[in-house]
Amino acid sequence: MKNKPLLTGEKRIIKVGDVTFGEGKPVLIAGPCSVESREQVIQTALELKEVGFHVLRGGVFKPRTSPFDFQGLGLKGLEYLREAGDKAGVPIITEVMDEHNIEAMAELADILQIGSRNMYNYPLLKSVGKVKKPILLKRGMSATIKEWIMAAEYIAQYGNVNIILCERGIRSFDTYTRNTLDLAAVPIMKKETGLPVIVDPSHGTGIKELMMPMSKAALACGADGLMLEVHHDPENALCDGPQSLTPKQFAELKSHL
Ligand code: PEP
Ligand code: MN
Repeated sequence: MKNKPLLTGEKRIIKVGDVTFGEGKPVLIAGPCSVESREQVIQTALELKEVGFHVLRGGVFKPRTSPFDFQGLGLKGLEYLREAGDKAGVPIITEVMDEHNIEAMAELADILQIGSRNMYNYPLLKSVGKVKKPILLKRGMSATIKEWIMAAEYIAQYGNVNIILCERGIRSFDTYTRNTLDLAAVPIMKKETGLPVIVDPSHGTGIKELMMPMSKAALACGADGLMLEVHHDPENALCDGPQSLTPKQFAELKSHL
């Protein structure tokens, strides 16, 4: 602990292999909601490679609302994600939910994600603060700007200032979209923390048709990148199929950015 704030607005650039967050060129993170099999994640990664993308995503420990839903393949899934990332020649990101397997996950993953549900999990924030890998911190679904900044500050205080923030929508009274994507948070968080901020329109809206306009809007308001769910066969996806783009749709979106 430093006992004084570390995220004071001083601009930070975060490097992950050949990818740089916060340098002006938007970073495209794409991949399935969850790793379902070795074949699925490799196929999606290779199709994305054809289109061009920068970081491969895929959940292996999934925070599902229902205990009856697919929970992820665990560390085996992370091995598949690693293999797929290597085949596509890009770094990988995956969500960590449990303090106990952070070390094992940090060995294979290039970026560790803290999901929306865990933004308030202070023991987990402290633990990823001690890790040497960059952290992607998603906004809690009901988190105020102040609470989100403080969550990032926890990670920084415990030793890791390589933090990328991700606006993924907040809960509001309206249920037309899955969440309400708060794009005002992008310039605010960049100014307040100095950290790169990316936007996740997939969880932010939950509606495929909104990926294009909200991706454009995110970049227009200064986002340092996008995270989009892409699946080679969304209709048969085990998680978040309805909001997932096909690699072809991702290519179309990318061509408009
Ligand atoms: C995810 O990105 O896989 C995810 C579960 O998103 P969120 O934490 O924003 O709900
Ligand atoms: Mn998802």
